[in-house]
Amino acid sequence: MNKPRTLFDKIWDRHVIARVDDEVLLYVDRCIIHEGSNHAFETLRRARVSVRRPKQIFAFADHYVPTDPARRAQGLDGIADKAVRGMVELLQRNTREHGIALFGLGHERQGILHVAGPELGLCLPGIVLTGSDSHTSTHGAFGCLAFGIGASEAAHVLAMQALWQRRPANLRITIDGPLGFGVTAKDVIMAVIARIGVGGAIGHVIEYAGETIRRLSMTERMTVCNMSIEAGGRAGMIAPDETTCTYLAGRQYAPDAAAQEPALAAWRELASDADAAFEKEVSLDARAIQPMVSWGTNPEQALPISGAVPDPAREPSAERRAEVAKVLAYMGLTPGTPLQEIRIDRVFIGSCTNGRIEDLRQAAAVAKRGRAVVPSWVVPGSASVKREAEAEGLDRVFEAAGFEWREPGCSLCAAMNGDELRPGERCASTSNRNFPGRQGPGGRTHLLSPPMAAAAALQGRLVDVRRLGSGS
Ligand code: SF4
Repeated sequence: MNKPRTLFDKIWDRHVIARVDDEVLLYVDRCIIHEGSNHAFETLRRARVSVRRPKQIFAFADHYVPTDPARRAQGLDGIADKAVRGMVELLQRNTREHGIALFGLGHERQGILHVAGPELGLCLPGIVLTGSDSHTSTHGAFGCLAFGIGASEAAHVLAMQALWQRRPANLRITIDGPLGFGVTAKDVIMAVIARIGVGGAIGHVIEYAGETIRRLSMTERMTVCNMSIEAGGRAGMIAPDETTCTYLAGRQYAPDAAAQEPALAAWRELASDADAAFEKEVSLDARAIQPMVSWGTNPEQALPISGAVPDPAREPSAERRAEVAKVLAYMGLTPGTPLQEIRIDRVFIGSCTNGRIEDLRQAAAVAKRGRAVVPSWVVPGSASVKREAEAEGLDRVFEAAGFEWREPGCSLCAAMNGDELRPGERCASTSNRNFPGRQGPGGRTHLLSPPMAAAAALQGRLVDVRRLGSGS
């Protein structure tokens, strides 16, 4: 009898081309890249090697594109910074030279690679998908093995359509129970990271399981898998089911109608076997999860919104006391301050974590209950999300509430494109990283969900969205 296997084991085993000692050469079905891939192309150029399978590589302009509508309307000319413009131009040149599909500036399917990619049907159950970006873990929501790679690995994939890898271990995170009112997928993954820590999944691929996960939409599953990397995971995955198949039906790069039945049958076989062994198991009760917000400079440093800024004096060791004190100094926070008393300067709703249509709908439902009192940006994750939101009138809801409606891109998540915080500015952000300077030198980031971000915009401070309008 065959040994029971996990979802990850099944995908890994069928992609192994060769083994040398403890490394395997893994076949890569698809690879996604963005403007930061120029070093990989340069490596190929120096080695006089061309891209082996250009039809399996897909490029997106996202990190370096302006999101200000006036500048965006000017195309490349709207990018004032020469170095930034050069990155977008290089992507155009490299993809043209190698015959790679580019969803670039002005393309109707342009967007953040982890938002636009799934919309195109690039991530299919059972495949290995690599990306020249750490949040490629997002795509594991479709039951594929999806992980980020560095520049030299990207060059290898471009040249060989394969990659040498060491086998990671299996970690299963099981979440059961209904989510409470006002609690979102972002709160779920932030609660997971607060529990296991930023190093909790190092050396592992995470499989998210349990009834809470099964009930999530694809948008919500992507939010969860997106932040797997923030817990140190090599990848995050969710077994494909009817929700997955329904989402993929009719997408440009998903199996067409004729190929669909055999594909669906194969996808259904991918779920972890009932008695498959996981090297590590964690379980959470969804009922205990509250809306979360980060107070520090990594996603583990987060608490339910009902909490208060931690006191370094209460930390168990001198090392921890020094670390928390340093974080609070950067964040400009006083120990013991209730999180809901923290005033903010800016709000950012967008990114590959929370820039999808469902995220914008949730934020708009809150935004229409008041008026933003601080500069608040809404940046759709893709041109498709923008079109869909505008067809539903969400842009008008946001603008009527004083929010700024912008063009699709990474924007304030990465601060590489002219969108950035000023030193000392404090931002309530739906993105996924909050290390010092992430949103601009000296900027201070509080990670939270789209409805929590919209609520913060209306109040000018962090606030429990569940109590908005009830005198909180
Ligand atoms: S939105 Fe942020 S995390 Fe996502 S791909 Fe862009 S820069 Fe990276």
